Amino acid sequence: MVPDRPRPALLDEGPLPLFIGGEFVAPHSGRWEPTIDPTTQKPLTTVAVADAEDIDAAVRAARAAFVDPSWSAITPQRRTELLLQIAYAIEAHGQELAILDSLEMGGALWVNQWLVGQCVDVLRHYAGWPTKIYGQTAPSDPTKFHYTVREPLGVVAGITAWNGPLQQLCWKLGAALSTGNTFVHKPALWSSLSAIRLAQIIAAGTDLPAGVFNVVSGDGAMTGQALIEHPGVDKISFTGSVATGRHILRTSAVDLKRVTLELGGKSPTIVFDDADLPAAAQTAAAAFCQGSGQGCVAGSRIFVQESIKDEFRDLLLAAMDSYVAGDPFAEGTQMGPLASREHFDRVNGYLDLARQEGASVHQGGDWQAEGLFMRPALLENVTPDMRVIREEIFGPLSALMTFTDIEDAIAKGNDTSYGLSASIWTRDFVRTQRTAAGLRVGTVWVNTYADMSTGTVPFGGFKTSGLGREHGTDVLDAYTETKTVMVTM
Ligand code: NAD
Repeated sequence: MVPDRPRPALLDEGPLPLFIGGEFVAPHSGRWEPTIDPTTQKPLTTVAVADAEDIDAAVRAARAAFVDPSWSAITPQRRTELLLQIAYAIEAHGQELAILDSLEMGGALWVNQWLVGQCVDVLRHYAGWPTKIYGQTAPSDPTKFHYTVREPLGVVAGITAWNGPLQQLCWKLGAALSTGNTFVHKPALWSSLSAIRLAQIIAAGTDLPAGVFNVVSGDGAMTGQALIEHPGVDKISFTGSVATGRHILRTSAVDLKRVTLELGGKSPTIVFDDADLPAAAQTAAAAFCQGSGQGCVAGSRIFVQESIKDEFRDLLLAAMDSYVAGDPFAEGTQMGPLASREHFDRVNGYLDLARQEGASVHQGGDWQAEGLFMRPALLENVTPDMRVIREEIFGPLSALMTFTDIEDAIAKGNDTSYGLSASIWTRDFVRTQRTAAGLRVGTVWVNTYADMSTGTVPFGGFKTSGLGREHGTDVLDAYTETKTVMVTM
């Protein structure tokens, strides 16, 4: 049954402008683009596309806010209070923000509701930092006094992908503001609505000074490019593809902007013969079906110990069958549509490619016959050199392969240019420790998957999965400069 589709008031406000220096302004570019609901494939509304002049205005506003005493001279306790205000404001508007993300990128509503809760907790976590960012004193000659202080970088540009719009924004916003920076956010063109609504919510419901948070919607080629080239940007915090990440790193070399990159993955799920197999199979299926596999940590390569392959495979196929694709707002929907026609065609292209490369394809799940819905697919008879095994697909596809022992599991898990995450299933302590130690990935989940911390532990990638970390204590290095002061008394 097709449910009534919710329609937040934002969608009836007309074309949605930029948010610069505390004001909602039409773009200098004069360009607006429709944003499409992937479930109905109809336009939801139109959003502004910022050009270089708009970006310049946003960066200048953020710079002015950075030096203004209303932000730069407040107490740490006041900064905590402002972050908590944002967290509470998001909590109060949580349902609406979740609906906007589900409408725009097609994820099941219950997933986005859960993600909004995570955003609130992440901001609460970051609200604790301002009173805990310490410098050091260094041993020195008694006639001298040497110490360090951590200072904010300045203007942070947060550029995000379309697959977790509010979550990615809140991770970066919390980190930037808790360390005293100001923030210019460029969401992906396909998923700007929750960021624009958040700008309204912050402007109306918090005391955050104007210019501390700015939203410049737009595309990559014009808007994003102008932002990464702008000399007034001190740091870029980016979530997206490896190709764009590389481009950002090259571009930022001109003025040595600080850069954090959260990029793609080809994450292994490794199942040993002593694992809780029903739980492992259910979670291995979730790892590439939930969110229709459009997650950076998608478990897109599954390695099972040879002796239990058949048993595990049956459980996995049954678990895939439990995935019901449908309208994000319908009860029981676990997978929505893929986020856009372009992406749907791309993912289906990989299915065709898998067949051409000689893989066998099992498809499961319940699905709608039309639209951008896709059944989960499990590939078998694959070899490590196939493109479907080497490239990130970002859809509900995974491949089942086998391994013999710990060393083989590690070697196969590491046989990829990516290194974002891995999920290991075993009850054995030695297998856990040795496998976790051998895998070249940023996060290892043991007997679980995608357990996302609310800011407390670092997240990021080895190899081409990224540069730097978000969250944990690492975030302080990523969002502050250390200043050394050497005094002769
Ligand atoms: P993308 O690289 O195409 O776009 C990401 C963002 O970069 C968008 O906002 C886009 O407009 C912008 N952009 C594009 N060209 C730009 C340019 N020249 N200058 C500045 N900005 C530019 O990625 P995508 O297709 O939107 O997202 C999918 C990718 O994101 C996948 O690879 C996925 O794994 C990755 N991802 C990683 C994480 C993580 O935390 N590691 C989380 C989510 C998604």
